[in-house]
Amino acid sequence: MPTILIKNGRVVSPSGMRLADVRIADGKIEAVGRGIEGKAERTIDATDLFVLPGLIDPHTHPVYLDDLGSLPVSAAYGGVTTLIHYAYAKPGEGLIETIERFREEGLSVSILDFALHGGLFDPKNQAEEIPEAYAAGVTSYKMFMTYAKLGWMTDDYQLMRTFDIIGQVGGMGMVHAENGLATDYLEDRMLEQGEDPRENFVATRPAILEAEAIHRAIALAQVAGCPIYIPHMTARLGIEEVARARKSGFRVYAETCPQYLTLTEEELRRQGPLVKIGPPLRSEDDRRSLWTGIAYGTIDTVASDHAAKEKKIDDAFFDAPYGSPQVETMLPLVYDGGVNSGWITISRLVEVMCENPARIFGLYPKKGALLPGSDGDVVLFDPNAEWTIERSNQHSNAPYTAYEGRRVLGRVVMTIGRGEVLVEEGELKGEPGRAEFLKTESGRVAPESLFSHRIGR
Ligand SMILES: [Zn+2]
Repeated sequence: MPTILIKNGRVVSPSGMRLADVRIADGKIEAVGRGIEGKAERTIDATDLFVLPGLIDPHTHPVYLDDLGSLPVSAAYGGVTTLIHYAYAKPGEGLIETIERFREEGLSVSILDFALHGGLFDPKNQAEEIPEAYAAGVTSYKMFMTYAKLGWMTDDYQLMRTFDIIGQVGGMGMVHAENGLATDYLEDRMLEQGEDPRENFVATRPAILEAEAIHRAIALAQVAGCPIYIPHMTARLGIEEVARARKSGFRVYAETCPQYLTLTEEELRRQGPLVKIGPPLRSEDDRRSLWTGIAYGTIDTVASDHAAKEKKIDDAFFDAPYGSPQVETMLPLVYDGGVNSGWITISRLVEVMCENPARIFGLYPKKGALLPGSDGDVVLFDPNAEWTIERSNQHSNAPYTAYEGRRVLGRVVMTIGRGEVLVEEGELKGEPGRAEFLKTESGRVAPESLFSHRIGR
């Protein structure tokens, strides 16, 4: 593997930014500092570029238009070098067999290193497999508190029981937090009254029913002594629940996604089914509260929830599937919407998109940091490049992007994974089958330790 020397870049970490060189040898970071010399097969001039640790995206669904092979390609174009996929065991499927299938296929087709979350659609019959999954390095387990009509909802009895099992093995729980029975009733009422599903979409899934589920999940997990991670937080009311639980010293971690940070429910009028996601896009006040939550440390991670589906703008809204392609645009959108707009610093961006996911899932400092001995996962990012997001410059198999025509300042120039150039100036260089499967150790860190800045205090 060639030695790479990155010269004169602005190396960013959660504690700040400095002008430095980065030397990568044998796939690992060998040294970071001023004036590093010595032979290298490749020297890269990074003057005026940010040098970031490769991003870790802990929320991806490689089972739709983008699979375990193509999703990592789109991710690498977006500066992501590590993925944590959801391996969902459907009713009738085993958790272990599902994990094995994802692991084997990922190892043969993925260009990025990856870990897995276990997803339990039927914990009544699947939770007994958790200790074995834990031993195999899958240590975080997601259930649904929503989608009752689809038969995916876990009731409080099974939630309590599964958190108990997860807590005993030392793992971490995760939930899609929305009150599924209440939202199903609101949806049924809307349909009976013949109301427009697009106009009433957000009203059938209101923020307070997300906050109620977050509150309930935290309460059950707390009783079980099981740490918990809340993916895709969307609302001010939800953030308040997390902040309250944290005050009592409970280990609850919070994630949001670029779509909730950059779009609001207004977008449903313009794009309809293309931005049908669950939980839904919410108000401008909610959007602002998410940025505040990141800036002040209540929200710990930003992840994509990438789920590329076949949808067209004029499809019937009610029948359109949930989900959208997000992984490739995530870094430019969070950089432009967060750093350029003054909500957060570039250091906090690195904290919530690199270091925190690595620490919450036990991958640090192998991943998420530019320290001697860390994997040579590096992103070169040009903060001065302005460009327009269009379907035609994206690499997802989704037939659209929710950000068509959006101008952003900041662009990924190069993505390096374990010392190998994966994407350079828009060209794919990485070969499938180079991936490592990563075992996680989830939920060990204190949430207070995930916030080093204290901006504005
Ligand atoms: Zn998801």
